[in-house]
Amino acid sequence: MENGELDGLRSRIREVTLELLRKIKERNELVRRVGQIKERIGMEAYQATAERELREFMVREGLELGLSPSLVNGIATILLQDSVRIQSGKSQGLTHMDILRRGLELQRQGVEVHHLEVGEPDLGAPEEVREAVAAAVRAGYARYGDSRGLPELRRKIADRLREKFNKDLDAKNILVIPGGRFGIYLALKILVGVGDEVILLDPSWPAYRQCVEFVGGRAVGVKTRLEEGWRPDLAKLENSINSSTKAIILNYPNNPTGKVLSKKDFRDIVDLAAEKNITIISDEVYYDYSFGERTSILDGYSAKYVVIQSFSKSFGMTGYRIGYIVADEQTIGKMASIISLMITCVPEFIQHGALKALEMGMTPAKYSEIMRRRMEIASGELSKLPISFYRPEGGMYVFPKFNGGNIDTMQFALELLEKKGVAIAPGTIFGGYDSFFRVSLGASEESIIEGIRRLGEFLSEKGMA
Ligand code: PMP
Repeated sequence: MENGELDGLRSRIREVTLELLRKIKERNELVRRVGQIKERIGMEAYQATAERELREFMVREGLELGLSPSLVNGIATILLQDSVRIQSGKSQGLTHMDILRRGLELQRQGVEVHHLEVGEPDLGAPEEVREAVAAAVRAGYARYGDSRGLPELRRKIADRLREKFNKDLDAKNILVIPGGRFGIYLALKILVGVGDEVILLDPSWPAYRQCVEFVGGRAVGVKTRLEEGWRPDLAKLENSINSSTKAIILNYPNNPTGKVLSKKDFRDIVDLAAEKNITIISDEVYYDYSFGERTSILDGYSAKYVVIQSFSKSFGMTGYRIGYIVADEQTIGKMASIISLMITCVPEFIQHGALKALEMGMTPAKYSEIMRRRMEIASGELSKLPISFYRPEGGMYVFPKFNGGNIDTMQFALELLEKKGVAIAPGTIFGGYDSFFRVSLGASEESIIEGIRRLGEFLSEKGMA
């Protein structure tokens, strides 16, 4: 008797669920048609106001029906994300890693390749750091350790930051992490649940978007423009915030544009986040590569924050996989339990290398000076070509745009690599910047000059110069 009723109800649930799927298909068809109109009139797929109106409508109607706002918000995020995907219509197939792989393959075949695509400085760790790591291994610092990191390293980091920013920071605010990239994951994992949104200021480092989606959230890209000197539009940013927004990721100096925000612009964004109770994830891995004004959220700003820092760029320690997070004690505790669960701790002998690096305070300034010089050289060479770009105030990249017409830079980059042995990163991967490309200053001066010269040659041969 009971079994018969159960089967009957389950069968009804299947029918209703099927009806939902049919309705989603019908909705997708409408979304596609909207997309065609947007394309005709040159409108972006993502439209903050329209999205917010639909979301608010759904939550209101959901409440009428007795559904919880968090459920309805989650469903809204999934539908809205899928709508943008349908309307963007472009395959995300190839990435700059495909270009890197192809470049390495060509090199193995004996072709000379100028690597202007990778975000890795060629500077290497200082000799003293290498020695410190070797000595730490010999001394037996190779056992399981504290998941938050060596107490003396955390203390030293906190002391440095307290000195620099005059901020009340302690070892309890520091977490040692295996590189900045993992820090992004940790921050997103504890802040973002399924259906939550994270705002990125595009163009942005591709890992942000991938990581937000990996933890089940939705990345909302707020575009900045070369014509506006890559300054974020505060009203546009505010318009993209809704009740599902949990974090804004800031990255200044910026990868890929080299933009550094003015203190005023930085403050406006942080104040807005504070007002809306949104956490700022401030990725400051290029902080030491600032050629003029420096901004850090530690510099007296009000919002709740998670700072991501790394030894990769400042000390040329990319392969050591070490960085740190600065946040409030509770946030650090949550992240430390993930480190403990996943990897136990960052190897202690590596942490001894980081400790040594901090004692050698001059390295970041020296490396920054090398980057500034390369930036000058690259800017000089690039300004001879038919492209436009913002002169970077920091970081290790230039992000130019081809003048005239839309260009599929992924295709362009592949062709440039095959024909001229020059690897660049196409703008598409930084949030859909089709006619842009990124030149990295991780290569030697000679390689940068020769790479850009060949790029110019290729443009002439294609009739683009
Ligand atoms: N943030 C940004 C903006 C980066 O460009 C990079 C490296 N490409 C990282 C974080 C991570 O660096 P790492 O994991 O080596 O610390």
